[in-house]
Amino acid sequence: MIRPAITLRRKRMIVDVDTQRDFFLASGAKCIRNHRRVLVNIRRVMAWSRLKNVRMVSTVQGYDPSDREHPYCVKGTYGQEKISYTMRERNIRFAADGCTDLPRDIFKDYDQVILQKRCVDPCDEPRADRILSELAINDFIVFGAVAEDSVKATVLGLLARKKHVTVLTDATGSHDKAAAEIAFRQMEAKGAKLSDTKSLFGSTHLRLVGTCECDRCQGKVTKTSVA
Ligand SMILES: [Zn+2]
Repeated sequence: MIRPAITLRRKRMIVDVDTQRDFFLASGAKCIRNHRRVLVNIRRVMAWSRLKNVRMVSTVQGYDPSDREHPYCVKGTYGQEKISYTMRERNIRFAADGCTDLPRDIFKDYDQVILQKRCVDPCDEPRADRILSELAINDFIVFGAVAEDSVKATVLGLLARKKHVTVLTDATGSHDKAAAEIAFRQMEAKGAKLSDTKSLFGSTHLRLVGTCECDRCQGKVTKTSVA
C-alpha cells in the first residue's frame, strides 16, 4: 500500500500567510496599515498554536535581487525573514523550486512547514499546491498579509479544494482598507467564515508587539497623540 505523504490526526491547521518583516514592521519595504494591532493579534494566535500544538503551514514570498517588480521580500534580506514569533521550533523550509517532493509524514517530525513562493497565490507553486491539496485536514485557520492579495488567493485556493476556512480578520493586514473589505466579502461569499482573535481566544491585555522598533509598537506614542 502506498502511504500518503502527509497524514495527520489533528483536525485543525493554521495557514500563516507571508508574515514577513517587510509587511509587518514600520521599517519594512511594504508595511501594512495598523501593523501594531495586527501583530498583537498574530502573537496571540501563535501563543495558542504552541499551547495546543496546532500544526502550521506558512508561506513566504521570496524574490531575486534582480527582480525590479518586487523590491520587497528580497531573498536573503532582513525584510524577507519571518516575524520571530511566527516561527515554531520544529520547522522545515522548502524553496520555490518547482518540485513537488515532500518527506513522508512530514507533520510527525515538524510543527511548521515553511513554503517559499514567487507569487501571491500559493497554488501557483507546485509544492504549496500539493500540500494544500493533499493534507488530510478539513479545518484551516488563516491569517497574515496581505488581505487583498496573498490571503485572498490562499483562502480561495483552500475553498476550491473543499476545505473549511476561518479567516482571522484582525490578525490579517492590508494596504488598502476598502480593497481588504471587498476581499473579505469575496472570501465570505465563497464560503469562508470571518472571525477574529477576540471571539476565538477571548480579550487580551497584551499591548506590546515585541518585534517592531517604531514608537507606536514600543508604547511611546498613545492613540490620542497620533495626529
Ligand atoms: Zn511598529
